[in-house]
Amino acid sequence: MALAFEQALRLILAHAAPLAAEDVELDHLVGRIAAEDIAAPYAMPRWDNSEMDGFAVRTADCHPFAELSINGYLPAGVGAEQARVQPGTAVRIMTGAPIPDGCDAVVPVENTAHDNEHVMLKQRVGVGDYIRFRGSDMQAGEIMISAGKLFRPAEVNLLAAFSRLRAKVYRRPRIAILSTGDELVPPGQTPGPGQIIDSNSYSLAAAVRETGAEAVHLGIAKDNAAALRARISAGLQADILITSAGVSSGDRDLVREVLNAAGARLLFWKVNIKPSGPVAFALKGKTLIFSVPGNPVSSMIAFDQLIRPAILQMMGHEKIIRKTVTAKLSAPLLNETGKLRFLRVRVVETEQGLTVASAGDQNTGMLSTMIRAQGIVALPPECDRLEAGAQVEVQLFDACAFAYRPFERPER
Ligand code: AMP
Ligand code: MG
Repeated sequence: MALAFEQALRLILAHAAPLAAEDVELDHLVGRIAAEDIAAPYAMPRWDNSEMDGFAVRTADCHPFAELSINGYLPAGVGAEQARVQPGTAVRIMTGAPIPDGCDAVVPVENTAHDNEHVMLKQRVGVGDYIRFRGSDMQAGEIMISAGKLFRPAEVNLLAAFSRLRAKVYRRPRIAILSTGDELVPPGQTPGPGQIIDSNSYSLAAAVRETGAEAVHLGIAKDNAAALRARISAGLQADILITSAGVSSGDRDLVREVLNAAGARLLFWKVNIKPSGPVAFALKGKTLIFSVPGNPVSSMIAFDQLIRPAILQMMGHEKIIRKTVTAKLSAPLLNETGKLRFLRVRVVETEQGLTVASAGDQNTGMLSTMIRAQGIVALPPECDRLEAGAQVEVQLFDACAFAYRPFERPER
């Protein structure tokens, strides 16, 4: 009996613990997950500073139309002691420059009229106006990045602002990829009669790299036990071994046999999904082993639905399931397999919102449908058919799903 998809995924994730932490440089942190809490080493901003280009003033001197003499200039990058304010005077100040002692407000230049010697205030000035106070952004000791958080450009900015050059993040898994099959030749080589080009090694490696993990090619193994044994034992040194093909019930499908002989423990073979049903999951020591069917579409969908979440979890990610959008079906979707059906779909933006429809022939042999697809709709085993008009959840392949459209401008 094929395992239900949810059980298969749960079983995989139960064995996909985050890897050990490693120290990584600032420039390589984006996309990684913090393995430590990071506190602000000092208050930010570090000193009271000006939010605007303008004049630092004492509010006691300020009333509308007051005229102050300009006494000093504070560009960004100099200490506050470079200027002193006396009663009846103002200091020319640039954004980010420290507020000089005695000043309690900044007047933006656009709220004044001034020449080189005098500034006239056009508006009322309140205590604290246009000052960014020390510690108003964050306090010393405040946890700003907690373990488990994704390093995005903003977190990288923060770490650099803390003057930290490195951080501890979860290690990226090394993932070995092995294609199997007597019929396979590598890309670049002209296939003889009946030979097929090994495209799966490359799509699997690409999918691995898209997660941020490291992919290692093990090449092609012929469908015989000796060839498979050698490559599989090399692959067992990796954190994850993915084998493609030779896992169905054909005569030459030796992968499971060889894995078994190598001491791998099979946790499941066959999941109640289509495509990618004949997929196997095994463990050898700390290595997770996935054997995916050889059909290119099946291998990609098996990776997407079962392997990708495991890789992300091993890298420390908590968010491991693809983002979905809700869209309205513009044509019926069929299942009729009695299995969880992953359908490749296209999403279209309309005036009424998002609509979705099949991306083409759903036969697993149709690579072109995968190329046209922007995402996946999963129909449960008990759902034979979904009618046009139904609202469905679409798992999007890409982070940016839609093209830029300039704002419509009124006609002149
Ligand atoms: P199998 O899972 O061995 O039954 O293979 C199913 C189909 O996928 C066959 O048509 C194979 O020729 C094809 N196939 C197997 N391995 C690859 C590969 N690495 N790249 C592209 N197609 C493959
Ligand atoms: Mg085969």
